[in-house]
Amino acid sequence: MQQENYAHLLGKQGHHLIGQHSAVKPCLWLKKSLRDEGVCYKSKFYGISSHRCLQMTPSLECNHRCLFCWRPVEMIMPKHEWDPPETIVDGCMGEQMRLISGYAGSATTNLSKLEEAQHPRHAAISLVGEPTLYPFLAELIDEFHRRKMSTFLVTNGTNPEMLAKVKPTQLYISLNAPDRETYTRICNPIQDRWSQINESLELLSTLNTRTVIRITLVEGLNLKELEKYARLIDKAEPDYIETKAYMHLGFSRQRLPRSAMPSHASVLNFAEHLAYASGYQIADDSKVSRVVLLSKKGNVERISLASTE
Ligand code: SF4
Repeated sequence: MQQENYAHLLGKQGHHLIGQHSAVKPCLWLKKSLRDEGVCYKSKFYGISSHRCLQMTPSLECNHRCLFCWRPVEMIMPKHEWDPPETIVDGCMGEQMRLISGYAGSATTNLSKLEEAQHPRHAAISLVGEPTLYPFLAELIDEFHRRKMSTFLVTNGTNPEMLAKVKPTQLYISLNAPDRETYTRICNPIQDRWSQINESLELLSTLNTRTVIRITLVEGLNLKELEKYARLIDKAEPDYIETKAYMHLGFSRQRLPRSAMPSHASVLNFAEHLAYASGYQIADDSKVSRVVLLSKKGNVERISLASTE
């Protein structure tokens, strides 16, 4: 698939391409927050302001082809140069400003929030693709911090070398299988990276940053083998665990049935059993997003921007 086609497909999903390999997309919760219609679970759990959040990726490519992925995983990007971090950040900020400017004319917009939204305070590096494939990821994160923004980086854990270099405000590893066999089935990797994922989990416990294991739950595929998940979590010692339902959206609808989307009750049930197996405690949940948060002591520390102010 050529980049033009891919850009067209992503454009239909509301992604806006930046430069040669990056994208930004104002998320649903940013729009809802501007209209005082609710905030995302990251706001509820960690104190992130939804209307000041910039959702982006520096890599549209990925080395996995997960069944539950919203992007067209068959895509192969043509060869390209790497854009510098400042260009990517400028491009994302400019595009987000352009997109939210349309809200100024709406009677339902909270205008003081719209004014704040002109100055994003948080970057969610987690849109589509695998961000650690961008070779200047550490510099990109530094650039966001230089602009007084916190960063959440979500990675599939296949690149431990890069994880040793980056220092986001909060680092997520998506762990979507309890063992290699399930991993191969769900993540459909271009090349087996299970050993590298295990390396990344081991590395996680040594990093001086907030860490999270995220498990995207797919009914009939990975709500099983709690003891195996617990052993992997024990290796990583994350500050938090997020168990989250797969959402039947985007291109995943061509690979999975709607029934693969677990109910909140099912996510909660899995989280309770995982808490028992891992020694973690349930700290919070969000029914609307079907996500349950666990932490070592059942509490959550809010994100402080003091260090970037
Ligand atoms: S790791 Fe993420 S971006 Fe890559 S295929 Fe899986 S869900 Fe999609």
